[in-house]
Amino acid sequence: MINLILFGPPGSGKGTQAAGLVEKYKLVHISTGDLFRYEMGNNTPLGQRAKEFMAKGDLVPDEVTIGMLRNKVEAHPEASGFIFDGFPRTIPQAEALDRLLAESNNSVDGLIALQVDDEEIVGRIKLRGKTSGRPDDNDESIIRNRIAVYKSETSPVYHYYEQKNKSYSIEGVGTIDNIFDRICAVIEAWQ
Ligand code: AMP
Repeated sequence: MINLILFGPPGSGKGTQAAGLVEKYKLVHISTGDLFRYEMGNNTPLGQRAKEFMAKGDLVPDEVTIGMLRNKVEAHPEASGFIFDGFPRTIPQAEALDRLLAESNNSVDGLIALQVDDEEIVGRIKLRGKTSGRPDDNDESIIRNRIAVYKSETSPVYHYYEQKNKSYSIEGVGTIDNIFDRICAVIEAWQ
């Protein structure tokens, strides 16, 4: 079983890299951002609740996010591992993930953070916005708020797993293949 947290600011390439990792290691990919967008698209109560936070680039409250994540993990008892993309984004989410995995005698193997500087992120997200159709990708002040929220609320999660000797940081700029190889090198060292 491999349980990997793919970490990094918005626009750092987590979703792109997750696609390759799913293929190579046969993992289940869970992106909380994608789950929220799916719920919003279907106008469910959960989607309606998340909408106002996502529109501003703020975090959806922990109790909503953690409950949704738990349902998704529990829906895959056959999984040989998970890639958590965009989760955990707060310390309470990290603690909840550890407790959830411990219930099935599993744990997080490691957190891999993709490092990309702020201006590169803004440029990438604006470009993505042209095709993603995401309102939060198409407004620079919202993009900058997402980066600020990452720094204040999410980056402590890196240190939380660092204290457990589970955090790894890699350069997130380069070709998709190069970055993929860097991630795989970290994962291979766990096995
Ligand atoms: P993402 O697709 O990961 O960039 O997420 C898009 C938006 O969904 C974020 O800006 C948040 O509003 C919300 N979101 C996604 N994941 C989480 C999470 N783990 N905790 C709280 N909010 C989240």
